[in-house]
Amino acid sequence: MKLNEYQIIALAEKYFIKNNSNIVKNIGDDTAVVKPVKGLQLLTSDMLIEGTHFLLDKISPYNLGWKSLAVNISDIASMSGKPDYALLSIGLNNKVNYDWLEDFYKGLSDCANTYQVNIIGGDTVSSKSDVVINIALTGNSEKPIYRNTAKENYILTSTGYLGLSGAGLKLLLSEKKSFDKYENYCIEKHVKPIPKVSEGLFISEYVNDFAMCDSSDGLYNSAKLISKQSNLGIDLFSENFSFNSNLCEVEKDLNQVIDLILYSGEDYELIFALSENDYNNLKEKYYQKFQFQLPLLGKFNNSKEIKLLKKSNYITLNDKSFNHF
Ligand code: ADP
Ligand code: MG
Repeated sequence: MKLNEYQIIALAEKYFIKNNSNIVKNIGDDTAVVKPVKGLQLLTSDMLIEGTHFLLDKISPYNLGWKSLAVNISDIASMSGKPDYALLSIGLNNKVNYDWLEDFYKGLSDCANTYQVNIIGGDTVSSKSDVVINIALTGNSEKPIYRNTAKENYILTSTGYLGLSGAGLKLLLSEKKSFDKYENYCIEKHVKPIPKVSEGLFISEYVNDFAMCDSSDGLYNSAKLISKQSNLGIDLFSENFSFNSNLCEVEKDLNQVIDLILYSGEDYELIFALSENDYNNLKEKYYQKFQFQLPLLGKFNNSKEIKLLKKSNYITLNDKSFNHF
């Protein structure tokens, strides 16, 4: 069945309109109207294009809906913020139908409900080539955390395991047709990422002075962003990386696992830098709350270089991460 704009908006109203006393006008007028947030206002937007960011035959519409919003929520999480309102703009081609769209909206709506986001508007157009999804998201934070506030001797750590999503993507793009439980675990991390909002807020509750970003493009990239913007260098310690047991079942070669952790992205963990003292204080509390041991991934210095310590040799790292252009 061919889609029309009226149906698409009716479906958006069915799945997205939720009661919230801060929303004065929801989907259906020229703009949405909301009350001002307390604290500072965060604004972000992310675009996903068929063929570049996803393949219609490799991700279900439900997971694509979930992921489209989750990647935006991760940007709010990495500022130590809470997400609020989303606008969804979509360009649809004739490869997708009403059922596809309904499942896409279900995934979006489940993600929105999980993170208390309200989708309050958007735009719908037809596309002659690829499916395009753009989500703009607002959030709020009393004290946003930036990338440029790391200091010499600060420690780099992450809220969870890295490299799983990249391993999942590799499997999806391989010739393989069926997957074991370890492989499915990694694939699930790729197609349905879990942004770390509570973790970002938890860290800012206990640590005053830190720097943070998300791991959308891998550990090397995050380490580089924080180092460059803070005018520092970093030594990364490969022996301290957290090696997830599912990932090690899927990829038996430890060097390959280290490469996935460094250069593959889309885990949407938070990567953050803090003083050794704060790190030691936070470690125990974080473990009690999230059952994850914060790894000592690296230590910042004045060198301006990014080095990896591997079997007592220092290697200067080069950029192998995903290049968007
Ligand atoms: P306009 O002509 O002003 O662009 P539209 O007819 O595109 O208005 O949209 C009507 C209403 O539906 C608006 O509130 C708009 O924000 C909302 N809307 C349109 N497309 C979507 C969508 N894909 N998801 C959510 N809301 C949408
Ligand atoms: Mg419009």
